[in-house]
Amino acid sequence: MLIYIFIGAVLLFFLIAGFCVFFDQAILTRKGTIYRVKSKGKRVALTFDDGPSLEWTPKILDELKASNIKATFFLVGYHVQKYPDIARRIVAEGHEVGNHGYAHSVMFYYTPAEIEEEIKYAEHVIREITGVTTKVFRPPKAWLQKGIKEKIKSMGYNIVLWSLNSKDWVMFNHKNIAKYISSNIRNGDILLFHDSGNVTKTEGGKRTQTVKCISLLAKMLREKGYEFVTTEELING
Ligand SMILES: [Zn+2]
Repeated sequence: MLIYIFIGAVLLFFLIAGFCVFFDQAILTRKGTIYRVKSKGKRVALTFDDGPSLEWTPKILDELKASNIKATFFLVGYHVQKYPDIARRIVAEGHEVGNHGYAHSVMFYYTPAEIEEEIKYAEHVIREITGVTTKVFRPPKAWLQKGIKEKIKSMGYNIVLWSLNSKDWVMFNHKNIAKYISSNIRNGDILLFHDSGNVTKTEGGKRTQTVKCISLLAKMLREKGYEFVTTEELING
């Protein structure tokens, strides 16, 4: 009997793990959001979620500078308070800053008033520290109720998800990530990466493969004629 429970538990674990690794939940919630901007030009936007992180954001900024890429960072308000200098460095180096909520709470069960407060507070913190008023919002884990999207748009925000997910938190080898993205890339794609966090937490994690991926991906996509822009540039054509 016990052995069946054990086998069942192992199977369930692999089922859930497989689901998390190979399924992209943004597909379920992207209606009514901007997840890809259909354009004639070969332009793509590189985005990083969950930072700033003390260890990884500076390394990612160094790589972006070396590859001459302006990216978009969807910042967590709480992390901006914790690492204000790194948040200011992101802005000083010409990257776009987006709102990823204050506490990185999954907003699926939030009331409209609670969501407004979460976004407004993150906006306030980011403005106080960096001087930037955010105009793009990405919900943590991409989960948002259908009806709430109009409310967020009425606050002046574009809701930005992604069309290509690097799954960098799984720690795939950077060459495989770059190869996957390069072989699936299309005009107007928005690419999801992370500069902080891992499977269980929003902060820290190990982003070595993400750091290594940037220059290789830049080379592979530019060879195909693609240009890197921020989400704002992509949206505004
Ligand atoms: Zn996130």
